[in-house]
Amino acid sequence: MIKVYKGNLLFTKDIGKLTIIEKGYLVVKNGKIVEVTKELPKDVKKEDIVDYSDKLIIPGFVDIHLHAPQVNNIGLGADMQLLEWLDNYTFPEESKYKDIKYAENSYKALINKLWENGTTSSVIFGSIHNESNLLLAELLEDAGLKAYVGKVNMDRNSPDFYIEDTEKSLEDTEEFIKSISKFKNIKPIITPRFVPSCTEDLMKGLGELANKYDLKIQSHLSENTGEITWVKELHPVCKNYIDIYEKYGLLRENKTVMAHCVFSNKEEIEKLKKYNVTVAHAPVSNGNLASGIAPVYDFVNEKVNVGMCSDISGGHEINLAKVVTMGETFGKIKWLSDGEKYNYLGTIDYFYMATKGSGKYFENVGTFEKGYDADFLIIDDSNISDINDRNLNERLKRFLYIGDSKNIIKRYISGKEIGKPY
Ligand SMILES: [Zn+2]
Repeated sequence: MIKVYKGNLLFTKDIGKLTIIEKGYLVVKNGKIVEVTKELPKDVKKEDIVDYSDKLIIPGFVDIHLHAPQVNNIGLGADMQLLEWLDNYTFPEESKYKDIKYAENSYKALINKLWENGTTSSVIFGSIHNESNLLLAELLEDAGLKAYVGKVNMDRNSPDFYIEDTEKSLEDTEEFIKSISKFKNIKPIITPRFVPSCTEDLMKGLGELANKYDLKIQSHLSENTGEITWVKELHPVCKNYIDIYEKYGLLRENKTVMAHCVFSNKEEIEKLKKYNVTVAHAPVSNGNLASGIAPVYDFVNEKVNVGMCSDISGGHEINLAKVVTMGETFGKIKWLSDGEKYNYLGTIDYFYMATKGSGKYFENVGTFEKGYDADFLIIDDSNISDINDRNLNERLKRFLYIGDSKNIIKRYISGKEIGKPY
């Protein structure tokens, strides 16, 4: 079935290159993009055209790293750094997801927020609890959103009330993988919390499970100096943090996403390249927890794929448009503090990372090229721009900087309009 959406189309094919089709047509067949064109294709029936005339049509946002069971902690603990924040805020909060009713209320609220802010796909950490992780997957599937959902694994250096036995952690993971294989839009992902929380046996077992079921993997890497020192103490034989994930089969080629990489050195960047790891860039979180500013320019220069993420609740901003603008701001501060040795990245570069950059992890998401999933947002920016005076590039930037979720008037996923989930 063909549907044609008329409006001002804005999307990226490569970093920094915005494609603009003014008063164009987005042609969708069976949920996939057939073409974007300036001319209305022949043989299209009038009733198959949806006219959004003056509105902007952009790809849905892809949040490549967030923690679902931290939704009720957003805005708390920003006076602490990572390890202290985990102990004081994160672990006590995540442990509450043992209670399925608490999980249901919180996850419905989170999914509404994702929907509201135009996040059509996301890569999500759950908690250690299978029952609430499965519920999260079900709620996402029913909402019509796309996601990878991971059962978190942690069997050391964690509080008594939120820790697993190694064998049980692996068994639960396998059970979780099997139980969510029935979903269409939700897929499992292997999720070791981070190296300090996982014994070598656990990491080895998770690497084997990833291999057995051919799964993607998500974790954290080189986020904070205290964390990196601790990792070195725990694994003195490994030269860099990333080597530990490599040792246990947790760097699967094209299938791994690592959040932060704030302190990734040249050698670590080489390994990110070798395994085609996607870096989940979390500028808001890295600012809140005083972690630092990731070398995004180096990643891009070295052709490491970078996606944008909210990192709820290290980050407090679930709206990826705002994460885009914070990424740009932090990038400029880094450029200045590094002595202006390189060009800094601009709004459209970060917009690319929040759509096609993150979307690459889903393979066919985040842009309007032929064959990609028709995941898009309709933006009414008439209250923030003089639409007769501003060009489309300026209107997009105005939306990203000063727009909000109310400017998103429709959301489509695989060509289907998605209403408010809960
Ligand atoms: Zn995280």
